[in-house]
Amino acid sequence: MRNGADFAIGPLYVNDHRVGTSAHPTSFFGVITMFASNTEYILRGEYAMFLPQEIIRKKRDGGTLSAEEIQFFVRGIPGGEVTEGQIAALAMAVYFNDMNMDERVAFTLAMRDSGQVLEWKSMNLPGPVVDKHSTGGVGDVVSLMLGPMIAACGGFVPMISGRGLGHTGGTLDKFDSIPGYSTVPDPELFRKVVKEVGVAIIGQTAQLAPADKRFYSIRDTTATVESVAMITGSILSKKLSAGLDALVMDVKVGSGAFMPSYEKSVELAESIVSVGNGAGTRTSAILTGMDESLCPAAGNAVEVRVAIDYLTGKARPARLHEVTMALCAEMLVISGLAANDAEARTKLQTALDSGEAAERFARMVAALGGPADLMDKPDAYLETAPVIVPAPSLQAGYATSVDTRGLGLAVVALGGGRVRPQDTIDFAVGLTGLVELGDTIAVGQPLAMVHARSQEAAEQAVRQVQAAYQIGAEKLAAAPMIHRTIRPA
Ligand code: URA
Repeated sequence: MRNGADFAIGPLYVNDHRVGTSAHPTSFFGVITMFASNTEYILRGEYAMFLPQEIIRKKRDGGTLSAEEIQFFVRGIPGGEVTEGQIAALAMAVYFNDMNMDERVAFTLAMRDSGQVLEWKSMNLPGPVVDKHSTGGVGDVVSLMLGPMIAACGGFVPMISGRGLGHTGGTLDKFDSIPGYSTVPDPELFRKVVKEVGVAIIGQTAQLAPADKRFYSIRDTTATVESVAMITGSILSKKLSAGLDALVMDVKVGSGAFMPSYEKSVELAESIVSVGNGAGTRTSAILTGMDESLCPAAGNAVEVRVAIDYLTGKARPARLHEVTMALCAEMLVISGLAANDAEARTKLQTALDSGEAAERFARMVAALGGPADLMDKPDAYLETAPVIVPAPSLQAGYATSVDTRGLGLAVVALGGGRVRPQDTIDFAVGLTGLVELGDTIAVGQPLAMVHARSQEAAEQAVRQVQAAYQIGAEKLAAAPMIHRTIRPA
């Protein structure tokens, strides 16, 4: 047992507010109860106090952390009471020794509660608050249609999205390519748009899950990102801070996916479903294919055009439609807006065919500052690149595989994505008309159209697109787009 003399010098909290730093906590609270564990102390009626290094040691040695230990550690992250070295050390200990499901739930809730958690109850919304999150991919424009489709079916979607980083695009960057659209509205406007339109797609604010922001940036620089436990906590803490009743997770599988293998994608999906439900939000996951760009375009303004054409019915590319409908149907079922998958799909098709989903998108764009007639005149608003050239195939045969990550990196090199978080984006550039796996290809036929800022950038992208595609003599069977749905046990 320890005594007061070797008590941690650390922050003290009263009802969530830091009140001071002291080596003599008794002077603040008068009473200290000592626990049997040699690392634990509790301040009666207040939060438990621990030594961060003891928490790290316990995890380093393969122990199981209590919810109180996890809460204590995470509470010290945003304000800097827990040092960068301690966060890195805990991340590495978790990387090697993992967290069980109870630890993951406690970790997720503590990260969620490190900042603001939105509440919708007081607004008496006449439907469930529901969202989708994807592990990200190339040409993944689903969110732009899904939000309005769910709103048209009676759900409320407060979608807080991220920017693209690495080879994958970000929903927020796509919306930033719409002139006037504010991805950082004030909170009152955000709530008003969710209430009145049923959907608002905006960016992460500094108030939501601030512990994850610091924790993630340290993981990113200490080779500790690849931990299913920590990825689960990181993704869910941000999503659950939106105050959701239900969440559907789209976990990508394939050459353009964030997770490196099918098995790891399953592991992440199962973890997110367990932890999401354990944290009180109905959660399910669908494993979807990312062996090629999800839609025929990759970039920002070019993908917004795909979404507008989809919603208005001008073009609904088959793979994009399959994934969008599967995710939307799951959202309607788990949030209670449809009794089963068939009923959900009927509602969704009606929302598309009646123009209601397109109408919701248009109202959301206008309410958040974008042009009221974007759907009618996308070309008047979405920027076009000055150089548009084909990337001709050098071989004849069938498109047998594509390095999807390579295509994403070609978009980044054109200026359509970021190498560093602070980089600015060129919304006009990207790829369109991407051929699909299984397509018959002739020599000289475009594998894609390259949209570039300069001739030089276009030539480099043409080479990248040519290198990304494998053209073979045999047509391979198409891989499924929907691999598996994981629901709570
Ligand atoms: N995306 C996140 O938000 N967090 C992770 O840890 C990994 C991917």
